[in-house]
Amino acid sequence: MHTTASRATRQTRDEILYYCLESVRTGLNFNTQGNISVRLPDAHDGADAIVITPSDVRYDAMRPEDMVVVGLDGTVLEGTLCPSTELPVHLAHYRRRPDVQAIVHTESTFVNVLGALGRRIDPVLLNMVLYAKGPVEIMPFEFSTNADFGRRSAELMGDDVNAVVWGNHGLLAVGVSLKLAFKVAVAVEENAEVLHRASGAGVPNVLVYGEIDIPVGARLP
Ligand SMILES: [Zn+2]
Repeated sequence: MHTTASRATRQTRDEILYYCLESVRTGLNFNTQGNISVRLPDAHDGADAIVITPSDVRYDAMRPEDMVVVGLDGTVLEGTLCPSTELPVHLAHYRRRPDVQAIVHTESTFVNVLGALGRRIDPVLLNMVLYAKGPVEIMPFEFSTNADFGRRSAELMGDDVNAVVWGNHGLLAVGVSLKLAFKVAVAVEENAEVLHRASGAGVPNVLVYGEIDIPVGARLP
């Protein structure tokens, strides 16, 4: 039960639900696709846990209490529904990157256009370079439901970039907050569309995070 004893506050559960619905409203997901999780520091015997969306529940029918709390070791701590099938992948990303506080997985169209072509998503828009921070690499297609896939996904994303594409499937975006992780997913999709269209017309100018002079106030954590 998500009483006051719950490791995940009502506010966190509501925020996850808000961004699930927002992912459909903004066209990043269809139907029950995608999933979202948030890190819960020190929530499981001194170690971290996460709260993640349940598997196979329509977003417009999802309730805050449907979210599942799982320790970083994979132990289900709270919840009556099954966690997202991509739980092992989320856990692997949280283990690799202590800075990551939230993960947003989407299956948006132009990310998938470039993913199906096996084309790395180079930054051609300012928002992409600010939020994702670098080129987003593509993992060749495979099922995304096991820890080994998660380890390799986290390794390919690396420590300095905030997203990775799973070929023929979708995007995993991370952030120091759920708000920022969601902005990464939006920025990468927008960038993927512009990159795809611009590449058909000529050679787009690619932005490199380390080479552009970002004013202090515009720098993101
Ligand atoms: Zn998926």
